[in-house]
Amino acid sequence: MEGRIDPRVIQAMSRVPRECFVPEELRAVAYEDRPLPIGCGQTISAPHMVAIMCEILDLREGMTVLEVGTGQGYHAAVMAELVGPSGHVYTIERIPELAEQARKNLQKVGAANITVVLGDGSRGLAEHAPYDRISVAASAPEIPPPLKEQLKPGGKLVIPVGSALQELMLVVRVNGYHEERRMGVIFVPLLGEHGFKARD
Ligand code: SAM
Repeated sequence: MEGRIDPRVIQAMSRVPRECFVPEELRAVAYEDRPLPIGCGQTISAPHMVAIMCEILDLREGMTVLEVGTGQGYHAAVMAELVGPSGHVYTIERIPELAEQARKNLQKVGAANITVVLGDGSRGLAEHAPYDRISVAASAPEIPPPLKEQLKPGGKLVIPVGSALQELMLVVRVNGYHEERRMGVIFVPLLGEHGFKARD
């Protein structure tokens, strides 16, 4: 765990029922601090990883956020709590079944300030850009240029980069782009135009 987590992040996580974002048969272990399978060969990130990524991004009320890799929507729901009703989270997922399940889960927990989009998030989501913050939940071969370009000045992007050995990177758009390695991580691959090649 990287340092102390901001109490705002902990409070946001305590308001989102994680058991609503995992398959029914895994509800009993929904609060264990580990990734869990969510179908289609994908995972819900471990709670500590969601906390660390939210902490690094320093999400504030009213921000516009893009998440790449919705899964079943848990991380998006936590970020939506942090940006509040005056903010908005756009989250993009490439697998139709997961995007659909995420919409249902988010509706069930009453999350109103989130839009789930089906598509290739390695290209970002130009129609709602620029973003204050971008959070990527799958590991890219390198930082996709469209994601950097879709940041507002002063905006921040957190993204895992690498294949066998992955690093969580923070990109800040100030006088160009400042990139910094934060920690070693393990994520599923980002597939798509600016990601790894999909086999399907
Ligand atoms: N955010 C999720 C959560 O709440 O825990 C975790 C998602 S999982 C670790 C990563 C997700 O990224 C998978 O659902 C996968 O299908 C998705 N993904 C991979 N490449 C993608 C791409 N190019 N565009 C959108 N989603 C992608």
